[in-house]
Amino acid sequence: MAAVILDGKKIADQIRGSLKAEIDALKGRFGQSPTLVSIQVGEDPATAAYLKGQKNVTSLLGIELKIQILQESTSQSELIALIENLNKDNSVTGILLQLPVPKHINAKEVVRFIDPKKDAEGMHPENISQCIFGDVRIGPCTALAVMELINASGIDLYGKEAVVVGHSEIVGKPVSLLLLNKFVTVTTCHIATGQRGVLPEHVKRAEILVVAVGKSGLIKGEWIKEGAVVIDVGINRVGDKIVGDVEFEKAVDVAGYITPVPGGVGPLTVTMLMRNLVEAFKLQKGI
Ligand code: NAP
Repeated sequence: MAAVILDGKKIADQIRGSLKAEIDALKGRFGQSPTLVSIQVGEDPATAAYLKGQKNVTSLLGIELKIQILQESTSQSELIALIENLNKDNSVTGILLQLPVPKHINAKEVVRFIDPKKDAEGMHPENISQCIFGDVRIGPCTALAVMELINASGIDLYGKEAVVVGHSEIVGKPVSLLLLNKFVTVTTCHIATGQRGVLPEHVKRAEILVVAVGKSGLIKGEWIKEGAVVIDVGINRVGDKIVGDVEFEKAVDVAGYITPVPGGVGPLTVTMLMRNLVEAFKLQKGI
C-alpha cells in the first residue's frame, strides 16, 4: 500500500493559522508588530527566491519584513556593526542573515553577533545548544520542521529506531538531538558511513528515517523499512525538476509516511522561522 504523504504545505497552513491568531493577540496587547530584518550581502539568484517566500509568509501573518541589501564589498566588520545596531533597536524583533554571503565574510562568525533573543533562524550557538536540553523556544528552523513532520505522522516515538543521514550543524546534528530527547534510539550517519559501505544496513533498520545530504538517489527505495516514516530534507535539481535524496517513486510503496520534494520540509522550514520570530517577540517582552 502506498505511504501517506506528509503534505508540508497543509501542515504549514495549520501552524500558520495558529501563529496568525497569536500575532494578532500580541499586536493587540503590545501595539507593535513582530518585525524581521533580513540582511542580504550582494546579489544571489537563490536569495531572491528565498526572499519572495519570506515576503509572502510575513505579509500573510502580519509580520513586518525589512530587507536590507548591502553591497557585495561590505566588510565583515561593517556587517557586524549593522547587526549590533539592530540588536539595540527595540523596533526589531528578529535578524536573519541570508546565505550565501560573499567569500570574504565568515557567516558562522557573524551569526554569533546576533542577539540570541533576535536570532530568527535559531543558528546562534546559544539557541542550537538548547537542542541538547530539548527545551527549544528559538531553534534551527529545518530541524524543527523535521520534528513537526514526524509529529504529523502521529506515531509514538518512544523507543523507536531512527536513522539520520547527514550530520550538518543546521539539520542532521540538531535533529538527532531532538529525537534523542523524545527517547528515540538514534543513529547518525555521515560521509564515513557511506565510505565504509554500511549506509544501506543502517537505513534498513530505520523506523524513522531523516535524510539531509543533498545527493539525489542516495537512498534506494529497497533500503526503506516497511511502514517507516521517511523525511527527505534534500533539495537537488535534476534537469528541470527538484528532487530529494530518497528514490521517492520506489520508497512511497514501502514507507508508512513520506514527505514529497518539493512540498514537504520546505514550507515547514519557513513556518518555523516565523514561529521563532513570535517566540523572539515574546522573550523580548518577558513572556
Ligand atoms: P551539508 O551541510 O552539505 O551536509 C550534508 C551532510 O551529508 C554532511 O553531514 C555530509 O557528511 C553528509 N554526507 C555527504 N555524503 C554522504 C553520503 N554519501 N552518505 C552519508 N552522508 C553523507 O547540507 P545541509 O545544509 O545539511 O543540507 C542537506 C540537504 O538539505 C541539501 O540538499 C539542502 O539543500 C537541503 N536543505 C533543505 C532545507 C529545506 O528547507 N527543505 C533546509 C536546509 C537544507 P560530511 O560533512 O561528513 O561530508
